[in-house]
Amino acid sequence: MRHVILVPLCALAGLLTTVSCRGGGESAPGGPAWRPGYVRPTVIDFHGHIYPDGLARLETAMVDNGLSLMVNLSGGTLEEAPDAAKLAAAFPRMVPFFNVDWRRRGEVGFGAAMAADLEVAVKRYGFRGLKIPKVLGLYLRDRDGKRVPVDWPELDPLWKKAGELGVPVAIHTADPRAFWLPPTPENERYEELALHPRWSFYGPEWPDRMALLGELENVFRKHPETTFVSVHFGNNAEDLDYVDRILGTYPNVCVDTAARLGEIGRHPPEKVRALFVKYADRIVFGTDIGISAQGIMLGSQGAEMPTPADIQPFYAAHWRFFEGTEKSIAHPTPVQGRWTIDAIGLPDEVLEKVYWRNAARLLKVDPKTLGR
Ligand SMILES: [Zn+2]
Repeated sequence: MRHVILVPLCALAGLLTTVSCRGGGESAPGGPAWRPGYVRPTVIDFHGHIYPDGLARLETAMVDNGLSLMVNLSGGTLEEAPDAAKLAAAFPRMVPFFNVDWRRRGEVGFGAAMAADLEVAVKRYGFRGLKIPKVLGLYLRDRDGKRVPVDWPELDPLWKKAGELGVPVAIHTADPRAFWLPPTPENERYEELALHPRWSFYGPEWPDRMALLGELENVFRKHPETTFVSVHFGNNAEDLDYVDRILGTYPNVCVDTAARLGEIGRHPPEKVRALFVKYADRIVFGTDIGISAQGIMLGSQGAEMPTPADIQPFYAAHWRFFEGTEKSIAHPTPVQGRWTIDAIGLPDEVLEKVYWRNAARLLKVDPKTLGR
């Protein structure tokens, strides 16, 4: 979802500035059914898309589900930054990430200009990171009509600047494997592709999926001083060995879990658990929730628009997966496939890191301010 200012900011004045954390309704007392006795710590959702008019809904969702911070990856460009800063002042529990103004990509010195914009967004307006969407590598064309690769050298000053400023770069590259296969009923994500034909990258006009991930890796390698959060579980949740290799090779890379429980949970649970334990400091919880006054997105978009009542079951499906040990349970986003997943029963200390500690470190948040 894109960040669009839809309501006058005065309408938001006086909105609550703090959120009390109940830790998730189902966890008290006696703990959740799938892990009796467990007391969930506070949670930071590292992957949200929040429209300004969705703040009241967001606040309810955060209280109901025990979230202390929501990262808004759709924080906007520098043009939108003053408004985003006012929102952040009204509701500091939402943390904005900066977005590149791709319309300017034909300008000479575009990358350096975006680096300068990022610096202003961080220093003057309090943005805490940079978000790069999958348009880079897939949809963007340069002035000559040529595809703009993920490792476009023009963007080197931007990656470098993020490193200097000490803010993480959340980057989305490519998509699930099925999106490169024919969008026919045989495709395991046919329902999703039928609803969103633009998500299909099948055909000679699209770059190869692994080539895109190769370009992404070039960026990780070239900018060791910059911290990247490779979203959607390293942008390759189907391949745990790939994720293991990337995390093992590049200490500057973390991954989030957003919108990929359906993929992560298809692997043998003991293998997934071992990966989480091995990289407990490098995996952050995220959902890809989208909230506006008009609509809600829960990781993907099905045929029917979810309602606010669907938000708590959505988070609960995440808790059940990370905390429990049940087999063949539903994943949070049904349109992403009809299969079931196996829960991974993470140890308490790993949950603590994945749920909030790693995100707090990346965002430079003082744990004392999280209202635990
Ligand atoms: Zn997203």
